Amino acid sequence: MLHGAGGTVMHSLVKNYIVKYFGATANIEVPLEALDDAAVINDIVFKSDSHAVKPIFFAGGDIGCIAVAGTVNDIAVLGAEPYALACGFVLEEGLSLADFERILASMQQTCLKAGVSIVTGDTKVVEKGSLGGCIINTSGIGRRTAALEKNFEVIRKFRSNLKARWVLDSNLRAGDKIVLSGTIGDHGVAVLSAQEGLSFGSNIKSDVQPLNCLIQRLLGEVGGIVAMKDPTRGGLADALNEFSEKSQVGILIHEDMIPVRKDVQAACEMLGLDPLEIGNEGKVVIGVVREKAEETLHLLRTTEEGKNAEIIGEATADFAGVAMQTVVGGKRIISRPVGDPVPRIC
Ligand code: MG
Repeated sequence: MLHGAGGTVMHSLVKNYIVKYFGATANIEVPLEALDDAAVINDIVFKSDSHAVKPIFFAGGDIGCIAVAGTVNDIAVLGAEPYALACGFVLEEGLSLADFERILASMQQTCLKAGVSIVTGDTKVVEKGSLGGCIINTSGIGRRTAALEKNFEVIRKFRSNLKARWVLDSNLRAGDKIVLSGTIGDHGVAVLSAQEGLSFGSNIKSDVQPLNCLIQRLLGEVGGIVAMKDPTRGGLADALNEFSEKSQVGILIHEDMIPVRKDVQAACEMLGLDPLEIGNEGKVVIGVVREKAEETLHLLRTTEEGKNAEIIGEATADFAGVAMQTVVGGKRIISRPVGDPVPRIC
């Protein structure tokens, strides 16, 4: 199960097996081996994602909205506007048509919110086993927008040597600020509660939501965004380590600036989980040139999706890797998690 949990074990499976056979692709602007959120080929951002969240319904969402939002967000964080999806269903024998319809309605709602259409797909049924109802693959395409061009115009005012045309994990430089769009850990704790039948005497809900419209606003109205990631499996810890490794820059974050709901923090303490390592489905981590950090934060805070946003840290040349200034005054190394502590969260 760790091989699918988004941490070091999964990264080595992908690198040592999948990239071994399909990597080394020539003439592809952002290829498979970049292991970014999506690929770019012929100026089209292209992404595929399988969704196997268990259970298929949980507080705040279901497998249908995750299937749409997950792929939409992976395309959006490269700076593209997603516009069409393909959807493959693998249904487990015994899934009720009422549940299937509930999932489809949820996908339709999420598509409307994100402004994307499902235009092709496939449906298979397999014998009763361990699917937990169904799994859904969504693939999608996205395109460049005027907002993305505007974003790069702003970056060029502050940085002359950036060659990238897309918002990539490898674009971060010392001095850039790290902005987080809201609270972390909500989704992982909501799904874990549903898996284990736990309730924390509170109202913890998944944050699952498409972020593409918000991201396009940030690119077009503020600009200066060099790197973005949706901190899904492996959480904020994994996302920041991806930035740090691919950009070859250190990242310092400040514990007191990281938004975590009190009930999520309490649930994590009870279960021995680190909110930094738990997956989210409706948050984005943004690397932005220092001069645009405050404006980015300001716009985020005027929106529903970003109302709890904070500037949580900065990229630095002082050290390699990711470190956190703790509230008690020390520094803690934030390493890449071995795997997300909660299985099958997306
Ligand atoms: Mg992603």
